Amino acid sequence: MDENKYYRVYSTYLKNKYGEKVYKLPINVPTTCPNRDGCVGTGGCIFCGEEGAGFESLSNELSVRSQLEKNKEYISKRYKAKKFIAYFQNFTNTYMSFEKFKSIINDAIIEDIVEIAISTRPDSISDEYLKFLKDISEENNIEISIELGLQTVNYHTLKKINRGHTLAELIDSVIRIKKYEFDICVHLILNLPWDSEDDVIENAKVISALGIDQVKLHSLYIVENTILGKMFKEGSIEIISKEEYIDRVVNFISYLDKNIVIQRLIGRAPEENTLFVNWDTSWWKIKDEILDMMEKRNIIQGEKCDYLNGKALKRFN
Ligand code: SF4
Repeated sequence: MDENKYYRVYSTYLKNKYGEKVYKLPINVPTTCPNRDGCVGTGGCIFCGEEGAGFESLSNELSVRSQLEKNKEYISKRYKAKKFIAYFQNFTNTYMSFEKFKSIINDAIIEDIVEIAISTRPDSISDEYLKFLKDISEENNIEISIELGLQTVNYHTLKKINRGHTLAELIDSVIRIKKYEFDICVHLILNLPWDSEDDVIENAKVISALGIDQVKLHSLYIVENTILGKMFKEGSIEIISKEEYIDRVVNFISYLDKNIVIQRLIGRAPEENTLFVNWDTSWWKIKDEILDMMEKRNIIQGEKCDYLNGKALKRFN
């Protein structure tokens, strides 16, 4: 099945943008997160394991450059790859002194890097850092993209999952980043136990209204030794079924602006130390089931995105 028929696929977007397949090289920087070290919160998000989000990365004891060179060598040989994205993946990659930030970014500028992708939190974006990135981008002809962890637009749920920020910080960071014309990707979890189908639709609508460029969808995975893990074991939270998750993803896509690129329909997680992940089903099977559902229901991205630019005025057309 050609998934491009149903939604805007990230790999196709990259291929069109850079003229060939582009590979991400994950970078693991020894940093932390303001929601773990007491700056805005302690203990982190209730689902966060100790490794942050980057279980596939190399050790952070290696320098940024060594990690990039090692991964680049491996991927170049294996896939004959020629263009790469330096991907700062774990924790909050802008949460550090300006000097340190400049140093890690400068270290990532090596041959064949066409883009630097920086994963961070909405409360860790400032004009000073963005201005520096703009200069780097122009001087080196490298694109910049910023990935913002949000998980949901429901600010009541954000409180419940102890995000340490609300929707306002996301809106502020998006307005700021847009001034510098970098691509913005937002991470969302579509089956948070406190969110309903309506919240999922609102996610799509807010992301579309803000003119976000890309989204990454995940299902919730539950790790041992986390607050969420404890809640799961006690039976105080309920996880929706795989079928309901698929239904939510399909609904989300139908409300999402057709110009938004979708990086992922479902996340991947390590199985060790995990109490619940993807209904014990491989991510690619769930992805296939989502596409099957879209085909069966004849749904394509953005078909319900009629709510922007004065919906009520359309009756006079
Ligand atoms: S923002 Fe990311 S790294 Fe920080 S606590 Fe939450 S999930 Fe963990």
